[in-house]
Amino acid sequence: MKRISFCDLAKLNLPMMAEIERSLLRVARSGRYIGGTEVSDFEEKLCRLTGAGYAVGTGNGLDALKLIMRGWIATGVLQYGDEVIVAANTYIASILAIEDAGLVPRLVDPDPETMLLSAEGIERHVTDKVKAVMPVHLYGRVDWNEDIADVVRSHGLLVIEDCAQAIGARPSAAGVCGRRNMAGALGHAGALSFYPTKNIGALGDAGAVLTDDKELAQAVRALSNYGSDRRYHNIIAEGCNSRLDPIQSAVLSVKLDYLESVGRRRREVAAIYDRLIDNFVVVKPEIPETAEEHVWHQYVVKVPDRWCRESFRQHLERKGVQTDVHYAVPPHLQPCYRGRIWAQQEFHVTCDLADRVVSLPVATVSDDEAVMVAEAVNGWRIP
Ligand SMILES: *Cc1c(COP(=O)(O)O)cnc(C)c1O
Repeated sequence: MKRISFCDLAKLNLPMMAEIERSLLRVARSGRYIGGTEVSDFEEKLCRLTGAGYAVGTGNGLDALKLIMRGWIATGVLQYGDEVIVAANTYIASILAIEDAGLVPRLVDPDPETMLLSAEGIERHVTDKVKAVMPVHLYGRVDWNEDIADVVRSHGLLVIEDCAQAIGARPSAAGVCGRRNMAGALGHAGALSFYPTKNIGALGDAGAVLTDDKELAQAVRALSNYGSDRRYHNIIAEGCNSRLDPIQSAVLSVKLDYLESVGRRRREVAAIYDRLIDNFVVVKPEIPETAEEHVWHQYVVKVPDRWCRESFRQHLERKGVQTDVHYAVPPHLQPCYRGRIWAQQEFHVTCDLADRVVSLPVATVSDDEAVMVAEAVNGWRIP
């Protein structure tokens, strides 16, 4: 039987392997393994792509998020204890980063249709203690629209985008500064992840911070390099070592040229699923009005409950279709947060989603395979 893997990384990188191999050799032979032009060229490429004024490479996406918020603490823009609104159904990295900087997450249930934080959600939870909001472009759909831009502006909130899953997504609304139109350059700062399975993935860990704010960019650069702004001159005590490697920069520079085609291909797969999946107990994800808002990092359907999900996934497995769940346990229910005041509330939408979501393969499926997946979905009945 033909097996359809959830994400086959070797297959994903195969079409650009010759270019990747040339880049790897170039860096290996260069003798420059930290910093240098491979990194700065890639950072410039990110700026040209997204429209952000500054890009700073980091070791991974979690560190990109952490360094932005530590940067705002170091420059006095935020104070320890300030609250950051974030969707309760996000990946835990968003929350880890907020607490790392000495800030307090303020979880908000997402909109059940988009599965994203909404303007109403922000409006309902904003208080004097809330100083920032973190839109997470979960599953590749950009969490940004006119209403969110209005709420953010009217409350004077800082916006930090978690773009780990959504590089290349474009909202129809303008950003807080009024002009940008790509994820990562909509708010005051954005964090990208190049984890291998992300839409643009490195051959290992990698990430980047995007911002228009020169002071923040400098703080992030220093923080990521032992807190030093130049050799043996340390200006921030909270420094760490989280730099983007030249070898990953070189690989990512190749892959970034394929960003448009990656988005297009993922939209094609999503369109096949949307057209062919027809099972009245399987709820398909909403398709946004403008196609570019979604880069389909994940195609997430909903089944009636947790028990059904077991049966659904087993059925697909028997048909050779590998699936995943993003995510079965929401952050506020993770053991590490037992006792946190912000984790004590009930988040009904988040818990409902955690029981019901299933991610279908997108990254490396052919048209024929997508049709097979849809047929397998349609063949499932609640036992
Ligand atoms: C992957 C991911 C991160 C963390 O990125 P890493 O590069 O794995 O550290 C953060 N937030 C979200 C939403 C993610 O999906």
